[in-house]
Amino acid sequence: MSTQPAARPAPEKPSAVYRSPTTGAAWVAVIGLECHVQLATRTKLFCGCEYRFGAPANSITCPVCTAQPGVLPVLNREALALAVRVALAIGATVPERSKFDRKHYFYCDLPKGYQISQYDQPFCHGGGLTLASGQRIRLARIHLEEDAGKAIHDRGDMTLVDLNRAGVPLVEAVSEADIETAAEAVEYLGALKEILQYTGASDCDMEKGELRCDVNISVRQPAEPWRTKVEVKNLNSFRHVAAAIEHELARQVEVYETGGSIRQETRLFDPERGVTRAMRSKESAHDYRYFAEPDLPAFRVDAAFRERARGAIPELPASRRARYAAEYGLSDKDCAALTAERVVADFFEAAARLSERPRECANWIQNELFRMVGEAESGYAHFGEIPLKPHDLAEVVRLVGAGTIQNAAGRTLLGAMARTGRSARILVQELGLEQVSDASQIEAWCRAVLAEKPQIVADVRAGKPNALNALLGPVMKASGGKANAALVRATLERLVRETA
Ligand SMILES: [Zn+2]
Repeated sequence: MSTQPAARPAPEKPSAVYRSPTTGAAWVAVIGLECHVQLATRTKLFCGCEYRFGAPANSITCPVCTAQPGVLPVLNREALALAVRVALAIGATVPERSKFDRKHYFYCDLPKGYQISQYDQPFCHGGGLTLASGQRIRLARIHLEEDAGKAIHDRGDMTLVDLNRAGVPLVEAVSEADIETAAEAVEYLGALKEILQYTGASDCDMEKGELRCDVNISVRQPAEPWRTKVEVKNLNSFRHVAAAIEHELARQVEVYETGGSIRQETRLFDPERGVTRAMRSKESAHDYRYFAEPDLPAFRVDAAFRERARGAIPELPASRRARYAAEYGLSDKDCAALTAERVVADFFEAAARLSERPRECANWIQNELFRMVGEAESGYAHFGEIPLKPHDLAEVVRLVGAGTIQNAAGRTLLGAMARTGRSARILVQELGLEQVSDASQIEAWCRAVLAEKPQIVADVRAGKPNALNALLGPVMKASGGKANAALVRATLERLVRETA
């Protein structure tokens, strides 16, 4: 359900101005986002079907979610608990009493002919998200509803219907039209996604359709309140949201400046061409004939239920970022990278605690573990799939810190631990990774490399001491990455001096 843009509060910042490329006139975009988020429950919202993405079509259905005569829906308490968790995490108020309504429309993927949703008494109201600039994006509403099935139109002149998704629990989060640029929209979405993931409410996997966005956008001249808006539906990546906003902004300004008018309509974004096109004229609320769902009693969220939900909210990313900067002295960039996903943040905190070397842990996670994700040979699609425990990383960081192994050996070790699941101590032995500090052995490696690189030796003697750096790599390579690097440098310096 879409809402009209709300009257903006007294603006605390000047509006972001868009300059028309043809007339140079100032325009301001008025943007609101509607997000449909699939809740990470085991079963659907009103029946016991266990939804799995990618299951064979129509294999996860029952009489309730296919709307057979005589069936009755029963509310999934877990879905309500997750929804309440999200509401509390964004500062919304959860009233004691709430109810479901029927939203009527006809489409082949909607077996009942109506969707069970919430209209005038949603489970929460208020709340909002704060951007890095300090700007607050208010939420107009969040409500619970069931998803529809899927109509598949790309089979020649047939349309196929898959009802697996019918009845899957969603929260729909509708922002006020407090957003003015594509960058603000993307930042808002990122902040919302973080909270949904941290609270465990949703995995937000956009490729599986677990987070879907519609954009409401209009343009106005700076002194005006607002003009007619259009809705761009079903955007399934942040990049598409940004591109659709940029395109609509330019399109609407051009229409107005050439004397045209904008119709209230629903448009679709074509990612290949980067443009939107009209789909249908937009329904308004009365077209849906909302009325209270007679098969479900109004429900109560009592204080005990609400407090249990509050107790399940972990420390949220904004708070963690501030704490990492204060406690560990990490940069803004490091803090952002480590908190973008809860699984990473939890891993980092545990490894930092165990190793007592938080900065090294931050570096190893960003340099080594992030690299493993998406690497073809390892095949880990997500950070959570890497078969390493915080304890494993802490071990490696400690061994490197204590000088038992070199950095390069640490990388080898970490990869071997992930592949074999064996402990650091055993692998250091088996793979012979222990650092070599034996002076005569190091001198032998250094002499061999010096003999091969007379030009570099000559450069160093000619007063270019930095030329020595080019010798470090070959010596380390000769040692299989195990030579004590500080000792190698000192030995090279001594040998060059001695042979002068
Ligand atoms: Zn079912």
